[in-house]
Amino acid sequence: MSTYPDTSKTIQLIKELVEIPSPSGNTDQIMGFVEEHLSDLDVEMKRNRKGALIITIQGENTLSHRMLTAHVDALGAMVKEIKADGRLRLSMIGGFRWNAVEGEYCQIETSSGKTYSGTILMHQTSVHVYKNAGEAKRDETNIEVRIDEKVTNATEVRELGIEVGDFVSFDPRAEITESGFIKSRHLDDKASVGMLLELIRQIKTKGIVLPYTTHFLISNNEEIGYGGNSNIPPETVEYLAVDMGAIGDGQCTDEYTVSICAKDSSGPYHYGLRKHLVQLAEDNGIDYKVDIYPYYGSDASAAIKAGFDIVHGLIGAGIDASHAYERTHESSILHTENLLWHYVQSKMVKE
Ligand SMILES: [Zn+2]
Repeated sequence: MSTYPDTSKTIQLIKELVEIPSPSGNTDQIMGFVEEHLSDLDVEMKRNRKGALIITIQGENTLSHRMLTAHVDALGAMVKEIKADGRLRLSMIGGFRWNAVEGEYCQIETSSGKTYSGTILMHQTSVHVYKNAGEAKRDETNIEVRIDEKVTNATEVRELGIEVGDFVSFDPRAEITESGFIKSRHLDDKASVGMLLELIRQIKTKGIVLPYTTHFLISNNEEIGYGGNSNIPPETVEYLAVDMGAIGDGQCTDEYTVSICAKDSSGPYHYGLRKHLVQLAEDNGIDYKVDIYPYYGSDASAAIKAGFDIVHGLIGAGIDASHAYERTHESSILHTENLLWHYVQSKMVKE
């Protein structure tokens, strides 16, 4: 039997996930991939109206449930305006800075499903023409898309089928390095989705009987604030969001351990559950960091805000340069997968 976790297998799956475009609001294709990926396993799956997927594994205790969630939706944009010169103005989907996507390749998807490639650029990019190319503000006025088609005006762009409201996704540029890193856009939160899918596979193939009925919610509206705040069965006691650990000045989180969140912008996570996660890490030789994320919210805090009476927690791999060109290391994936493995088989803090 294979040893678990096999991080190289998880990282390959994460690479496949980041390469499927899935800006919030346009996640059908990636949900189809997730369903297909699990189709050989005997698990209950259903999509809610919002388009998220709920996977359920029955446990010994069917009265108290657990839910784990990770989100497949990613940052992206929408065509805001077709300019007179044939360039596209964008409207952001999710929270990022324009400079984080400057120079990035992108894909425009028309409403009929046709796709075109392009590049996200400052209008004043050419230093041979624009004196202020370096100083001009990176914002929705100056940032535009250059479509890789022979177009010079709005009419020609419209003839391609491109319209206001079309989704634009960013090239992930995913790469796995010899030194054990995966660098890519959208590791937030596809790294966690990859880990949950691998966890489900291991539970089923190893024939593990979980102590409680456990739901896995693959949510699709997290970046816009309401991914995991519905379809939580009333029996759910514990609700764990698996989402990126935030790295930066003053943060303990790094790319080599699992990050356990004590508090984010929404306030403290459930103290008892946090201590339980720390204890599980201590007992099983899992390297972890407890941290506070200053500008952050998760599907678990969204669920609390929506009024669910649950015990909520948040853990995840440490992701560097979040909402830009991100990176993490296989050791962070390893420790996060290990903590998840022990968590789903542990006793609840409160039943
Ligand atoms: Zn996230």
